[in-house]
Amino acid sequence: MQKSQEKPSLSGLSELELIKLAEGLNWPSFKGKTLHSWIYKKWANSFEEMSDLSKKDREALEEKYTLSSLLLEEKQVSKDKTIKYLWKSQYGDLIESVRMFLEEHDSYSACISSQVGCAVGCPFCATGTIGFKKNLSANQIIEQILNIQRDTKERLNNIVFMGQGEPLLNYDEVIKAVYLIKDSVSIGARRITISTSGIVPQIKKLAEEKLQVTLAVSLHAADQETREFLVPISKKYKMPDLMEALHFYYNKTKRRITIEYVMLDGINDQVEKARALADLLKGLHCHVNLIPYNPTDVGNFHGKALKRTPMPKIYKFKDVLEKTSRKKVTIRHERGVDINAACGQLANKFVD
Ligand code: SAH
Ligand code: SF4
Repeated sequence: MQKSQEKPSLSGLSELELIKLAEGLNWPSFKGKTLHSWIYKKWANSFEEMSDLSKKDREALEEKYTLSSLLLEEKQVSKDKTIKYLWKSQYGDLIESVRMFLEEHDSYSACISSQVGCAVGCPFCATGTIGFKKNLSANQIIEQILNIQRDTKERLNNIVFMGQGEPLLNYDEVIKAVYLIKDSVSIGARRITISTSGIVPQIKKLAEEKLQVTLAVSLHAADQETREFLVPISKKYKMPDLMEALHFYYNKTKRRITIEYVMLDGINDQVEKARALADLLKGLHCHVNLIPYNPTDVGNFHGKALKRTPMPKIYKFKDVLEKTSRKKVTIRHERGVDINAACGQLANKFVD
């Protein structure tokens, strides 16, 4: 990756912005389009590579701008080929992203961060323990994607906002990034998933954007009491309001919602809780994704360490939920556990 960090980065500018930038340099506007293509289609690592720009043009760019404000700090490759990246911003912030291979689609997906840390503080999530540090800019969100493609030379087909942070608490930058992913990186909105802990007003706002992105909601419990423990922000955005927002999202977008449900031994995995969940989801167009809990060193319930539900019990829960709700229920296939790259394990810790 390019080194000069202080200069403004061109990755994260739209085609129109790049055309304006070219015009500002007294260049013909088509050079803005050329730049756009080098950045987003050819994943250029340096201005030097931009062979259809003159040496003088390239030097002018080099002097003023950079192609990445994020520098690669560390990279780890898991036994299952999942790659975890740690980037350092020009302000010294650490940002994590994960690239996964999706066997079922024969394609690659990136799990990207929208914030450094997270304010929501779910007790089972390593990111939550860091607390909120910073919102990422749209630019920094896009650079995670471009840098992964630059590094691997392989196209990403799918983007999930499931790295560090609560994307809907960084709404404007995330939406700006979504437009860039769609229009410049050329990954369709249907292949972009925003996962949220349930920020009700922003779910409604997102519905109004009519963006066709997939909304995933970290529900984790069907009753208010358990949910308040697992997702503390639900004290503010209560269950009936959240459910109403999800129906609203579906009605506006006609996009089926993904319900995420982390499986925690003895906490939310009893058969009667599967029935309660089926009941709660009645009439909502959704599918349920059960996530086997990935142990972190932080998760505890009244002083007792949180444990993953044993697999046979997860299958039983799935079976009861499927039969009572008649909805599609899947179990999330975990990736990159050996390098702490799985869901909820992102806390800037790299395995030696
Ligand atoms: N803040 C957003 C997105 C990031 S977390 C959200 O909470 O939805 C992405 C998913 O990983 C969420 O469903 C989250 O609940 C889940 N998760 C967090 N910690 C986990 C852990 N230790 N094991 C399994 N899933 C976890
Ligand atoms: Fe934040 Fe999501 Fe982790 Fe909860 S699960 S602390 S909302 S990143």
